[in-house]
Amino acid sequence: MNIENKRIEDCLINGEGAVSRIVLDHLAIPETVRVFFLDEEIIPIRFDFLGNPIFSYEQSMLLTFKRSEFIRRNGICPDAQVHYKERSFDVPRNEFDTLQSIKESLHSLSAFENVIKSRRMFAKSHSDAELKEFIVFGRLRLMHDGKLCYVYTDDCPQIKEDVEEVSRNSWYLPSDIPSANAVCPCCGKPFTIEDVKNGTYEFVDYIPWHIDCWHEYRRQKEIHKVINCLMDYVYEPVKRQCQYELLPNGYYKDAPHIPWFLYHTPDGDIIVGWRKRVISIEWQENFKAFDFEKLFSSENATKWQKNGKRGIHACGADKAAEYLRKVLKAVNP
Ligand SMILES: [Zn+2]
Repeated sequence: MNIENKRIEDCLINGEGAVSRIVLDHLAIPETVRVFFLDEEIIPIRFDFLGNPIFSYEQSMLLTFKRSEFIRRNGICPDAQVHYKERSFDVPRNEFDTLQSIKESLHSLSAFENVIKSRRMFAKSHSDAELKEFIVFGRLRLMHDGKLCYVYTDDCPQIKEDVEEVSRNSWYLPSDIPSANAVCPCCGKPFTIEDVKNGTYEFVDYIPWHIDCWHEYRRQKEIHKVINCLMDYVYEPVKRQCQYELLPNGYYKDAPHIPWFLYHTPDGDIIVGWRKRVISIEWQENFKAFDFEKLFSSENATKWQKNGKRGIHACGADKAAEYLRKVLKAVNP
């Protein structure tokens, strides 16, 4: 029986979002794991494939409250204590640490995922042994410690095969692949080995999406936020006459999926879009004349007037609606 004193760590897990867990020193047999914290036993909601206990978000919050209260009274709080039996890992190494075995696993996402899990389990149970390193699809590196990392094409321009054995390298950015039973939250389709090959997935808060699905969802969300909830709201009586066009994001150059907008009103055009925590509003040169200086004299915000355009940064949607209304009223007295 192993006994370890461990911190319960907040974490984000692939496909599950915010939970917390205890990372044990060795592979554990889940049925034998018992966790005690401040003289109480806490039952994990499940275990990961290494046998590490996982706790729900609500359990994590309760533990945090309990810990804070204990610290308030006693100054310091002990770690959780975990009792468990170690699990041996005896899958032959040639099933997950040879060029051939990895190549064969690439026929399906679940087979490839199993290879990655086996490598993690091997590394965990053989802390003195190192795995070989491989680059898969020219974009993922299977590391000597069982982890998965990104590969930058600049680092490995010579990679041509689906799998190549490479010499050990020092540091790479950790990566992950969608789990074989994960589905895209947008289109509901399961992920495939082709998605892994082509890199057509993206993790958003640790949940895998198809990149195209994520971009479309994000675009629609921005249209809803800016057009439905702000511009149409202000221009409610005439909103059917107000067309809009999508513009490239004026702030994040590398976010083509988060548009800015050219909004046509009966009074003229307005360019509007989020930039970090403010909304940029710019009345265009064809927008009716109004005394910009006077109207916003009391506003402590970034303002500009150039070539007939008049712009201001609004701190949040409420402020943006207020500015837009002010101008709407000024040009329609
Ligand atoms: Zn999708």
